[in-house]
Amino acid sequence: MCGIFGVSGHPDAAAIVHLGLYSLQHRGQESAGIVAVDKETGARALRSMGLVSEGFADTELQQLTGTIAIGHTRYSTAGTSTIGNAQPVLARFRGGHISLAHNGNLTNAAELRESLENDGSIFSSTMDSEVIVHRLAKSAHSDSATALAEALTGVEGAYSILVTMGDTMIAARDPRGWRPLAMGRMDNGAVVIASETCALDIVSATYERDIEPGEIVIVRDGQVTSRRFAEPTRLYRCVFEYVYFARPDSRIFGASVDRARRALGRRLAVESPAPGADLVFAVPDSSNSAALGFADEANLPYELALIRNHYIGRTFIQPTQAGRDAKVRVKYNAVRELLDGKSVVMVDDSIVRGTTTRGLVSMIRAAGAREVHMRVSSPPVTGPCYYGIDTPTREELIAANMDVSEIANHIGVDSLAYLSLEGMLGAVPDGPDGFCHACFSGDYPTPPPADPNKLRFGCGC
Ligand code: AMP
Repeated sequence: MCGIFGVSGHPDAAAIVHLGLYSLQHRGQESAGIVAVDKETGARALRSMGLVSEGFADTELQQLTGTIAIGHTRYSTAGTSTIGNAQPVLARFRGGHISLAHNGNLTNAAELRESLENDGSIFSSTMDSEVIVHRLAKSAHSDSATALAEALTGVEGAYSILVTMGDTMIAARDPRGWRPLAMGRMDNGAVVIASETCALDIVSATYERDIEPGEIVIVRDGQVTSRRFAEPTRLYRCVFEYVYFARPDSRIFGASVDRARRALGRRLAVESPAPGADLVFAVPDSSNSAALGFADEANLPYELALIRNHYIGRTFIQPTQAGRDAKVRVKYNAVRELLDGKSVVMVDDSIVRGTTTRGLVSMIRAAGAREVHMRVSSPPVTGPCYYGIDTPTREELIAANMDVSEIANHIGVDSLAYLSLEGMLGAVPDGPDGFCHACFSGDYPTPPPADPNKLRFGCGC
């Protein structure tokens, strides 16, 4: 998964993007990058592995002059953790330059790439996103929005993208609307476009609207124009954005993530209460809001019984078995004073492999909990995502291989309940229709990619 952020019409565009990327760090910690466009001197890129806070020296940022800039934070996926795959992509072509930042996964990237390579294109990365750049460069249209509309025709899968060509910044969202993309304006008139509205807040931009599925938004000299590049079709917004991925202080798909998560937690408490429990706690941070909703509905105290170490990034590596075993303990610790002798409800937003969860349950028991009842604010994850969420293969997904009672046994809880699919879709804003829930239901909106491993290797996000 990834975060994208762009600004047009600001004298310190790169610095604004740098700030915006801080708020999109949760969408990707593998690498970060900024491309700035200076009308006089052209486009320059700065990319770095790791976190936004560590990646860019002030002196380097100062060299990114210009009033337009786009940026990207990239999520870690197997086999592709190289600087060569960091975004934004910056390419020179006959008409000047093209830069592109992409969130999502293209499901027919392998076929499109093969056809481009057969025509002589030379790719410089293994990213699916580069396909769009090549198609854009090949377009005969001099108007950049028309060229982008043409380039996107026939591209399948999930994409929210930001592109710069010359002095134009363009945003587009795939017709099914898998990934969010919001637009706002700063006091000086600069236009800001970001994956989530929390990134508008950090630069004090006022939210105006979402980029619509199938829409291209063109920003030039402070003027915003719009056109459609695809007919309106059935929406497949990613429900996992509400469940886990987005920040609760954001609005995505036009609604508050915090409200959505609380509603999921409340619905979970209605469907699967935990009678006799003494307290509720969350697996921080992604399930805090859902656990609050659960506690509220169940009329139980909400306690901070599990503490997360915020200085551990996702990049924490475990070179030895001892390190791997310690992984959960490095990231979390239990508050014995709250748990000792209690019957507790542990709320998490999802169980993927089950390894973290199993470690957490054993930690909660070691802290004295008498009974552990786990409640999950989404259904069992039974299939991989081909549209941008970094889920492991089916073999590694615990719910693809065990039923709920086997999982309960495996993770060591007294009871386990997941939110139903209907419950989840009924609880999220603007549900139950118009969402992609393939990872929960197996109902994939597009044919799965011919070779999912190839997709994984070429994954743009
Ligand atoms: P596990 O028990 O190993 O399946 O880990 C469960 C935890 O992973 C939950 O706390 C989720 O919030 C979190 N999680 C869910 N999806 C993802 C993802 N795509 N990447 C990283 N963590 C995730």
